[in-house]
Amino acid sequence: DLYNIVQDLKGNIRVYCRIRPVFNDEAGSIVDFIGQDDSLAISDPSKPQSEGRKIFNFNKVFGPTCSQNDIYADIQPLIRSVMDGYNVCIFAYGQTGSGKTHTMSCPSDGSSEEDMGISHLALNDLFRLSNMRKDDAEYEIQVQMVEIYNEQVRDLLKFEICSADGGSMSLSDATMHSVKSTADVIRLMKLGDDNRVISSSTALNDRSSRSHSILTVQVSGKEISGCTLQSCLHFVDLASSSERVENPEEAMYINKSLSCLGDVITALAQKNSHIPYRNSKLTLLLQDSLSPGGRTKTLMFAHINPERDSFAETISTLKFAQRVS
Ligand code: ADP
Ligand code: MG
Repeated sequence: DLYNIVQDLKGNIRVYCRIRPVFNDEAGSIVDFIGQDDSLAISDPSKPQSEGRKIFNFNKVFGPTCSQNDIYADIQPLIRSVMDGYNVCIFAYGQTGSGKTHTMSCPSDGSSEEDMGISHLALNDLFRLSNMRKDDAEYEIQVQMVEIYNEQVRDLLKFEICSADGGSMSLSDATMHSVKSTADVIRLMKLGDDNRVISSSTALNDRSSRSHSILTVQVSGKEISGCTLQSCLHFVDLASSSERVENPEEAMYINKSLSCLGDVITALAQKNSHIPYRNSKLTLLLQDSLSPGGRTKTLMFAHINPERDSFAETISTLKFAQRVS
């Protein structure tokens, strides 16, 4: 339909930027909108205004007053394309505290409807659509949740705590859980988050920002007509990019996998014949949903903290995002 045609024209790879609100008034914001909804200007706080201003363009920029629903309204067609057989990957990129988890899955217990993140809003939508179509088709929705930490893959929804080496695990090895509602998924995600915490030693207490977490929603459908559908939607809350290095080994794994992801997305955007999936676990796991020419769509949300103190990390996030767009 027309809606999908318009969406397809937007391209199969999109890069959005979300600016979170300023929490510390004294710090002040160094990021401005400049009139359009696809660009922003950032000022280097160490230079005079006229010299230190840089402009970055994206497919879209969401400012600090944008709500979760504003964002969902934009990406709804992308989410719905999963029901038309597309594999969709949504990535949240940014430094710690820039709003990645807020965008993806806030609040984690699903307690308030008001501020629900896009994974919850998407699930509500998919369940609603599959119910609406239930006279013509039968759908099954399943989820899995894995974490990649230092290039090791772990199933977060495997109920025994396993010490097994997850180095060679792929998504097809991770347990699938059949779900009937968003509440079911929120319960599972809570378990997954608890498993993440249990596994981290005290030295790695902020594990959530040092590992990638992938929530995969798989939709299988069978139409009355006999057609079948199998597609998936991945919500990837990436490890935080960082200029500040505390643990060099972790930092090395994080930087390497983020840069491999950047290479893959860039190669896809440039329609290169060689896509370097094999250089990281993350791109290898998501290979089927990041393939060129296939029925795949990718959305990268670059998150930035507009406060003065974050200038260096914000610039590095903007450069990363610019490279893949
Ligand atoms: P990250 O996952 O990137 O480390 P979080 O999503 O945990 O960052 O966000 C850090 C804090 O900022 C949280 O308390 C979160 O609720 C808040 N926050 C982030 N983005 C927004 C936003 N757009 N509006 C309101 N609060 C936000
Ligand atoms: Mg987070």
